[in-house]
Amino acid sequence: MARFFLTTAIDYSNGDPHLGHAYEKLGADVIARYRRLRGDDVWFLIGMDEHGQKVAQTAAAQGVEPLTFTDQIAARFLAMWDRLGISRDQFIRTTAAAHKAGVQELIERIFQHTPGDFYEQEYEGRYCVGCEAFKQESEIVDGKCTVHPTRTLETVREKNWFFRLSRYRDFLLAHIEANPDFVRPESRRNEILALLRSGLDDISASRSRFTWGVPFPRPTSSGEHQTTYVWFDALPNYWTATRVPGSGANWPAQLHVIGKDITRFHCVIWPAMLKAAGLPLPESVWAHGFVYLGGERLSKSAGVKLDLNEVIDRFGPDALRYFLLREIAWDSDGNFSWERFEERYISDLADGLGNLVSRSLTMIEKYRGGVVPAAGDGTALEQAGTTAVADYAAAMDALDLKGGAEVAWGLVTRANQYIVETAPWALAKAGRNEELDAVLASLARCLYRLTVLSTPFLPGKAADIWNAIGQPGSPGASPWKALLSPPVSGAMVTKPPILFPKPLPSAA
Ligand SMILES: [Zn+2]
Repeated sequence: MARFFLTTAIDYSNGDPHLGHAYEKLGADVIARYRRLRGDDVWFLIGMDEHGQKVAQTAAAQGVEPLTFTDQIAARFLAMWDRLGISRDQFIRTTAAAHKAGVQELIERIFQHTPGDFYEQEYEGRYCVGCEAFKQESEIVDGKCTVHPTRTLETVREKNWFFRLSRYRDFLLAHIEANPDFVRPESRRNEILALLRSGLDDISASRSRFTWGVPFPRPTSSGEHQTTYVWFDALPNYWTATRVPGSGANWPAQLHVIGKDITRFHCVIWPAMLKAAGLPLPESVWAHGFVYLGGERLSKSAGVKLDLNEVIDRFGPDALRYFLLREIAWDSDGNFSWERFEERYISDLADGLGNLVSRSLTMIEKYRGGVVPAAGDGTALEQAGTTAVADYAAAMDALDLKGGAEVAWGLVTRANQYIVETAPWALAKAGRNEELDAVLASLARCLYRLTVLSTPFLPGKAADIWNAIGQPGSPGASPWKALLSPPVSGAMVTKPPILFPKPLPSAA
């Protein structure tokens, strides 16, 4: 069994979970569920990034202790992940004792493994609290951070611990060139290669006059105790998680899923830290794009947001998950609009999969007393089904999640056509029983395959369909090789309640 340790970016504790957070967790959850279908030993880690100046400022503005504030935020994120069916194995918080000890240990390892990689330096820079990062001149337009044009940059002058990132440029270039999957997709890999070719500056690893974070393990030469810079605290979570008692995670990670705005941290700084500490690098980093809302970037300040609870209340968590991963390519930016969401809900879910399940099971009940006949392995639909399984696996293995969903829903369309072409009602009327058996069994085999293939995209509804087609256990636990020849003959089917109601559920 292959190990598959999968992580997402830990979310910054500064507000409620929004569509962007949900998109990343849902995409990663689709990958986790797919790898489990393939029989991998998956460990899926998510969590919260709870330190930093912005968290301390927000908590202070609300008149509460930072930890009280982050406890509330963590609870709200967890509640949302439960609603969305995020099948995490571990939830790490950077305020946890095991994480803080792990960060200090990692820094100590660097001090010992590569002496000289940490050094003290007086520094003046322009700090964006929004990014929790010092900004280069190229990232500043009209005196503002390009990502956070509403925030004022702080000019910070202090003596800090620095990390000799520049020393790792050649190593990183060679590693990324030799390992094409280390940074994906290709567009992001090219950006990182270009960044490395232009040279790397050393980075600050600690902050002075600021305490909401992990104490940097060594004082400066003047005896000052500083706080670990928030990225030096956040990135190690992927490694510290493996050291939490009870964790089933083993370093290195097979895949880090992150947003495209934090590739520099994950594809440059993090591997350099690991190399400096003498630890193995993660196998791969995948940077997804952004979800826009009605064409606009999500923004708390501009009020561009989608009420996730409203979507879930009206349509259920599966419909939102399916829409986002089917509509937006996992390597690109995309858009959520209610109009498009409703179109897909009707065409793909209600009229597509929902209708196929309903018609197929109604006919098996009506013509065969609900028992799937033993036949149906040589039909045109059977051929389409075996091809779809192979195409789906190829897409999903390449992390083309949209492609995987397209293959599965291509089979839905094909199966609905097959019903029209074979007209089982006419076969029944004419008493052509063998042909009718073949058609009905072939539909049941197709539903079996579709249920398994749709499990990552519709985990709740797939379980409902699985029960309806008379299969024991859960579709996620079915052996992948059963898709070659689905064990459906003799199964007792029961038509389920309507899977995707029409007309559209209205707003409350
Ligand atoms: Zn910024």
